[in-house]
Amino acid sequence: MTDSVKYLLDESRIPKAWYNLQADLPKPLPPVLHPGTHKPVGPDDLAPLFPMALIQQEVTTEREVEIPGPVRDVYRQWRVTPLFRARRLEKALQTPARIYYKYEGVSPAGSHKPNTAVAQAFYNKEAGVKRLSTETGAGQWGSSLAFAGALFGLEVQVFMVRVSYDQKPYRRALMETYGARCTPSPSKETASGRAILAQRADHPGSLGIAISEAVEVAAQRDDTKYALGSVLNHVLLHQTVIGLEAIEQMALADDSPDVIVGCTGGGSNFAGIVFPFLGQQLRGGKKMRIVAIEPAACPSLTRGTYAYDFGDTGHLTPLTKMHTLGSTFTPPGFHAGGLRYHGMAPMVSHLKELGLIEARAYHQTKVFEAGVTFARAEGIVPAPEANHAVKGAIDEAIRCREEGRSQAILFNLCGHGHFDMQAYIDYFGGKLKDLDYDEGELAMALAGLPAVAA
Ligand SMILES: *Cc1c(COP(=O)(O)O)cnc(C)c1O
Repeated sequence: MTDSVKYLLDESRIPKAWYNLQADLPKPLPPVLHPGTHKPVGPDDLAPLFPMALIQQEVTTEREVEIPGPVRDVYRQWRVTPLFRARRLEKALQTPARIYYKYEGVSPAGSHKPNTAVAQAFYNKEAGVKRLSTETGAGQWGSSLAFAGALFGLEVQVFMVRVSYDQKPYRRALMETYGARCTPSPSKETASGRAILAQRADHPGSLGIAISEAVEVAAQRDDTKYALGSVLNHVLLHQTVIGLEAIEQMALADDSPDVIVGCTGGGSNFAGIVFPFLGQQLRGGKKMRIVAIEPAACPSLTRGTYAYDFGDTGHLTPLTKMHTLGSTFTPPGFHAGGLRYHGMAPMVSHLKELGLIEARAYHQTKVFEAGVTFARAEGIVPAPEANHAVKGAIDEAIRCREEGRSQAILFNLCGHGHFDMQAYIDYFGGKLKDLDYDEGELAMALAGLPAVAA
């Protein structure tokens, strides 16, 4: 039997609560600090940007947070997502490893991002908000929030990183189809955007800059709040539906992972698959290896400093302790636009510091090679970001072959690549370069870290 096997659950098995890793952490997260006073922020400091329900989810240490009925109703459209045993890939690799992947590309926007977009739109609607502003890199988050905004009757404005805006016109068209307004960033619409354009008129943009623009717009208007697609605790919380479902599906397969792999941009899809399993481990369950894969051109976990930093380039956000390349760092314009963020989720950074997860960085040509191997075996064309997880899983499977060990490897296939085919065209045309970040720029960005007393 060499065909891939699909583990499905019916929609009654959609989790009723998200899982909160903060309940099981061996050491609590460092506090979020006010950028002016360097004192821990309170809920009121965040109220101009987020509805109170999400602010509470940011800090709660309750193990379970109930998923509201209307959010579960929307999830039913594509959840429970399938979990596959990749038997054809195993055969192609001639590995004794058992490779499983959870596939989040079945959502309307094509990635895991609607898991939190729908929840965030719901809580904002409940709080009487009329408009949401946000940033997007590759366009996955912008299209997910545009979708969720359409469902809940919210206006959505998306600041899209300029290089992706130019590279991915179909993502922009998708956002507009859902009714959102998409603005290339840096833009002239905000003071933060204008400041960047004054320095460099052809600036390619970065997530850090786009975040500043979106935060600025939200801070200025009472009817507008800001939505972030990754990094924050409440975003990671919403993504845990992935791992909660995977726990049940691995049980259906009568197996359990020895290694879990995910790609990390801001850390949300990684957290989504990992945290529920890690919670079991922390409560005395099976010990696993957990591996985060990031791009070598934007390596926050493997090369960044663990320090307090701003979430954005314009320094409008609070300070969070995380692995960071510095908030002014602009990574080169490689193809996995969703992984071009200077920081890493504080929760994922904390786990790295505690030695509970490993991290590796790969260059993009090897990552695309892995994605093509995967597509030819399994039929699904992964998003460029997801190719990092695919490459990580394939390397683990090859290690198993070399060591003659039969381990179970689970990875998150966080999205499909149907809007990213230009990247594949470039790969096949030999045009993908293994870009390195500029060491001088990194040193400068790190020298600019805010001075926070330990
Ligand atoms: C946004 C995105 C990422 C990166 O964000 P995370 O928060 O690290 O998950 C990765 N893959 C896909 C498909 C994305 O859309």
